[in-house]
Amino acid sequence: MLALAEIFYSVQGEGVWTGTPAVFVRLAGCNLNCRFCDTDYATKAFLSVEAVVARVRELGGDCPMVILTGGEPFAQVESSKLIDALRADGRRVHIESNGSIAVDLARDVWLTVSPKERLTPEMAARANEIKLIVDGRVPDEWLASFGTRALPTFLQPEGNKPANVALAIDAAKARPDRFRLGLQTHKFIGIR
Ligand code: SF4
Repeated sequence: MLALAEIFYSVQGEGVWTGTPAVFVRLAGCNLNCRFCDTDYATKAFLSVEAVVARVRELGGDCPMVILTGGEPFAQVESSKLIDALRADGRRVHIESNGSIAVDLARDVWLTVSPKERLTPEMAARANEIKLIVDGRVPDEWLASFGTRALPTFLQPEGNKPANVALAIDAAKARPDRFRLGLQTHKFIGIR
């Protein structure tokens, strides 16, 4: 069984795929405890893999994109089974992870890594995009872990606080080859 916080149909608000309709599956629990975390990832329900796939279909119909988020999706061992089941159902699976738990992923899975306390070399090597949370500073010490691949790298101001926004913009302007400003656009229009 999977522990779930919520499942809902909305639009991706962040990163490369911003604006794309997607069903969000928020898995409960996280292996980290970040000071600035504002996500409610408490368990609200226990569902089988099959029940989650059915709920995704019920909410999103034929929507191709499903985003597994958390908490930390890989904190639950059954998340790999869920990924396989969603792919078998014809979905394009995207994962939002803190990158601290190494997992083998199929090539067609999109992996967003937002490193916090630690990052495994396997997940750094597998990442399709990077999200760095700017909270009083730009945590660019993580970049070396991702190697020399030209990955889209978003600087996301924590809490949209003006000081963090200014830091992120200054850093992006200083390194336009590497950084983009990353905004949680869904929060500006009041959707999940
Ligand atoms: S890794 Fe993400 S979900 Fe987990 S505590 Fe940190 S900010 Fe919250």
